[in-house]
Amino acid sequence: MKKILVFPLMALILSLTACAISAGDPTPTRIAPHPFDVAWDDRAIFREGLIEAEQPILDQLPGATVYHIDLQIPRDFRHLQGRMETLYTNRENEPLNEIYFRLFPNTAGGGTTVSALKVDGQGVDIVHEFLDSAMRVPLPATLQPGEQVEIQMDFEVEIAREMAGNYGLFGYFDGVLVLDEFAPVIPVYDDEGWNVEVPPPNADVPYYDASFYLARVTAPADLTIVASGIVVGHEQEGDDQVLTFAAGPARDFYIAASDRYVIVSRTVGETTINSYVVAGQEDDRAKLTLQFAEDALKSFGARFGVYPYTEFDIVSTPMMALGMEYPGVVAIALDLYEPGSPVVSLEATVAHEVGHQWFYNVVGNDQVDEPWIDEAIVQYITGLYFVDTYGAQAEQGWLDALYDRWNRVGQADIPIGLPAGSYEGREYGAIVYGRGPLFVMALAEEMGEEAFDEFLRDYYESHAWGIGTGDTFRQLAESHCQCDLTALFEEWVYEK
Ligand SMILES: [Zn+2]
Repeated sequence: MKKILVFPLMALILSLTACAISAGDPTPTRIAPHPFDVAWDDRAIFREGLIEAEQPILDQLPGATVYHIDLQIPRDFRHLQGRMETLYTNRENEPLNEIYFRLFPNTAGGGTTVSALKVDGQGVDIVHEFLDSAMRVPLPATLQPGEQVEIQMDFEVEIAREMAGNYGLFGYFDGVLVLDEFAPVIPVYDDEGWNVEVPPPNADVPYYDASFYLARVTAPADLTIVASGIVVGHEQEGDDQVLTFAAGPARDFYIAASDRYVIVSRTVGETTINSYVVAGQEDDRAKLTLQFAEDALKSFGARFGVYPYTEFDIVSTPMMALGMEYPGVVAIALDLYEPGSPVVSLEATVAHEVGHQWFYNVVGNDQVDEPWIDEAIVQYITGLYFVDTYGAQAEQGWLDALYDRWNRVGQADIPIGLPAGSYEGREYGAIVYGRGPLFVMALAEEMGEEAFDEFLRDYYESHAWGIGTGDTFRQLAESHCQCDLTALFEEWVYEK
């Protein structure tokens, strides 16, 4: 009887209280099975990371790829040591003779070396392609639709020490380790085959299917480790901590770590929001980011569907961009927390990256070939965040910001629907992030606000944990408005 009374009360108190936790608080031991001992089809370990309404997804997504990772982070931050076992199911309609993995550290100032590669226990030779940003794994036997293979490998990753490719999101800088795309991951196979290419310098490069990641991370005990998913295991081994993270369904797996992080947390509904800042950075901004994230999660949750995970992390990191989205985590440029930096930039960046949890993570898209699909939508809904949070009068400021971006190329009518690599210099930001959301607004006006809102919610729901494309986006919009949008798409989206 007591428990029944106490727990709802505690939940209520937690949901009302913002609590600060320092990085040094001892975390109680919690034993998790080693990822390599977990059965491939056992998804129970992912349940705790999903809000109750989202948990039925664990009985769906048949054949989603499973990654079991064992990773060592050394004290000198020079090389990661990893071992990975992957279960891949051919969910295509055609037989496959090869599988690719992306090796993005090779084009981001570091390097990945894969060894001891085995497919179903049989050693195979790998072939490096696309400036070593991809490795082709020839399969010993043709993989028919519905069939599975188990792929094992060891991998060593040289950690970048200088900011290089992909906006400096991978490396060890100023006491912060940022591991964007550190593990070999299988790209999407679609109508164009395997999505592998030399990464364009301006694009967000990952294009992955929703998958399940179970990762055991051994690292110096004084590091605060931030990652996609939730901690399902925590042990101490000498001077090291061993954390097991479960993330899934998720489109990627990200880690950041530092011995300089302090945390501010808040629980809203079923989700705990954690904001990590480097010690010495303004406390106020850490708390502000919590508020921005809470407001954004509420705004987008009400419009499209509740945020699926029980944890959301915001982490301040050095980078050459303003922010970057990962499943369950957003990295925000450390500079935006500095006292002189405009608070509205921090707010817009947090809202934007939160928006990617809906459009990028839950609904995936080809960020290299069709970057506008997620970026233009996310820029548009960032405007909705301001309206939902501050009222209709807040829209103008955001609209001005979008025109400011487009003005960087003199409002040139360059199509928003080009591959990332086709834009020169400042065109990418100006067109995809400036003109792109203005197109979404024009589309909303053409369809009528109400029909458009219903359409966007339907687009989210019908593509959840799948992939959206420009074609499916347009077709669904046309079915909602019962109208022909050819002229509008020709004016804004398509190459002339
Ligand atoms: Zn974005």
